[in-house]
Amino acid sequence: MKTLIEGGTVITAIDITAADVLVEDETIVAIAAPGSHSWADEADKVIDASGKYVIPGGIDPHTHMELPFGGTSASDSFESGTRAAAWGGTTTIVDFAVQVKGESLVGGFDDWMERAEGNCAIDYGFHMIAGDINDESLADMDVLIDRGCTSFKLFMAYPGVFYSDDGEILRAMQKAAETGTLIMMHAENGMAIDVLRAQALERGETDPVYHGLTRPVITESEATHRAIKLAELAGAHVYIVHMSAKEAVAEVAEARDAGQPVFGETCPQYLFLSHEDHLSKEGFEGAKYVCSTPIRKRADGHQDALWTSLATNDLQVVSTDHCPFCMDDHPTLGTQKKLGIGDFTAIPNGLPGVEDRYQLIYHGGVVGGRFDLNRWIELCATAPAKLFGMYPKKGTIAVGSDADIVIFDPGTEWTKSVDQHHMDVDYSAYEGMEVKGKVETVLLRGKVIVDGDEYLGRKGDGAYLPRERMSVHH
Ligand SMILES: [Zn+2]
Repeated sequence: MKTLIEGGTVITAIDITAADVLVEDETIVAIAAPGSHSWADEADKVIDASGKYVIPGGIDPHTHMELPFGGTSASDSFESGTRAAAWGGTTTIVDFAVQVKGESLVGGFDDWMERAEGNCAIDYGFHMIAGDINDESLADMDVLIDRGCTSFKLFMAYPGVFYSDDGEILRAMQKAAETGTLIMMHAENGMAIDVLRAQALERGETDPVYHGLTRPVITESEATHRAIKLAELAGAHVYIVHMSAKEAVAEVAEARDAGQPVFGETCPQYLFLSHEDHLSKEGFEGAKYVCSTPIRKRADGHQDALWTSLATNDLQVVSTDHCPFCMDDHPTLGTQKKLGIGDFTAIPNGLPGVEDRYQLIYHGGVVGGRFDLNRWIELCATAPAKLFGMYPKKGTIAVGSDADIVIFDPGTEWTKSVDQHHMDVDYSAYEGMEVKGKVETVLLRGKVIVDGDEYLGRKGDGAYLPRERMSVHH
């Protein structure tokens, strides 16, 4: 089966080229100047990409499909969430398998593999959340590395649930240093935050806005600093997830400038939403925007600083931390965000975004004049592929790479709304926002799975993607 994509502008993290792309079965086999070949004669299918961008499928290295959290589960299943990702031009996710405290690391990995198996619309891999750090779980890390899980996530937040103390973190980082794998860190001082939350509730402060106010900037910047220093002590690479405070990003930037292998990501919600306009909305509306780290104050300059950090490579990746919960009851999962009416600490943490990311970052970054087309591709596809051991199979358009290709129309203007999205959640975090640029056609390993407003894929199109070790070191 040969597919020719002709007449488009191919954009990678490096180049912008008027070129035709030839796909054979699942792989890109040739790229050439228009008119320099006669591929149309032998092609089974020809896609006209005139006037469009031909870009690599997006890679979202931070999603939580079906995640159990706070007495319910994230509303997107592997099936619905990966289908929504496809609609948004993302063709690979790296989700998080979970080791529950007291249970085995490998057992948790197997559990998540089973949940995803046969259900995904796009390719998927797993990072492993290590709930317990002990001799057994450290030994289990070797087993998972062999199975293509080469990154491990730890939490400095959520005492009693996922929390690791500094000694446990150091041991896991030593293991990562030994094995050439990557530690991902949720950097918030959970012990301090728990004190602030209890004090707020005692004062009768129960609205969603207090979620943000009890996780002040210093709880993120302190934990980020500590994570970086522990990584330095262990000689390990560390990747700070979902960064929202400029003071925390400054810690990453300082370490990178000193030559330490420290990396960081942010997410669309921190770039487009704010404490003032969203989290502090009247009544319970703010619950839609409850996530950790919290959405911060625009007036303090966090949004502008995050955009600048993406442009200057102080931050390397935009992921989503996709973890949706419905405002009204979910048909099968029941009450979600409303668990926290009258007690902000009971609001499930997370918001939807896996479908939004690639297009939003084009709109805010490229149309917004903050960085160029190449940087957009790098942030949303190429850098995650390199950091998480998928490059050059994924994350670029090159001969030999998987034919995960998006045809993107840079001119389409449209309005974001819950009415047009495909995520299994009853609100859009970006309701009413007018954006420019839209995904038109999506190929997953050569198969067209989205064509205009038609979904042509099916569950099980997506395969488990065993990952290599990271291929960037700064
Ligand atoms: Zn997360």
